[in-house]
Amino acid sequence: MAAISDLLVVATDGSIRATTGVAGFAWASTDGDWGVACAWPTSDNITVPESLAIRTAVKYAPADRPLHVVTDSQASLEQLRMAAAGTRRRDSRPARIADQTVAAAQARTAETVIHWVRGHTQTAGVTVLHRQVDRAARTAARHASANPDWYDRTTPYVTEAAAAAVASRGAGACPCGWAEPTNTAGEPYPSDPTTWTLRLHPGPVS
Ligand SMILES: [Zn+2]
Repeated sequence: MAAISDLLVVATDGSIRATTGVAGFAWASTDGDWGVACAWPTSDNITVPESLAIRTAVKYAPADRPLHVVTDSQASLEQLRMAAAGTRRRDSRPARIADQTVAAAQARTAETVIHWVRGHTQTAGVTVLHRQVDRAARTAARHASANPDWYDRTTPYVTEAAAAAVASRGAGACPCGWAEPTNTAGEPYPSDPTTWTLRLHPGPVS
């Protein structure tokens, strides 16, 4: 079994600026690195930037490190679940991105785990990292061009959140620090727990 220190957690999020239709997405890892991008072509479907953020996280993580990706998009997770199961479904951009993400996960040599978190609610562990990514995605949707001052201001917050996420390892429902989602009253979220986490295993070596 891989050491817990090898485990890489990447929080992802997408955002759409309603006035412009620009879809931004962002990711940040427990290594402290992060990035933002805008989706092209633009999209009015929030599942597109959410799915692109997850695909980016899976494609560019070191292939031999166990990877846990955090998303607040149930629609993206559902698309990944269907892609992994080989379920036939209507052709759409989120469906195609999910197919590419599952292929990228199968090409890795370590396991890939996708966790769902409720956005904007919990305040511990990986959710702290997710909160910073949420901010970055919203800013990405507002700014199509790079602004070095913004990176300089944002990086310390991401670094701090990544450290908090690393410190939360071993607590919660998963070794990565992910905790089962709760409702606003702090009670277990009223949905089937099996829908909160998807495990994607390396594919057969061909
Ligand atoms: Zn995990």
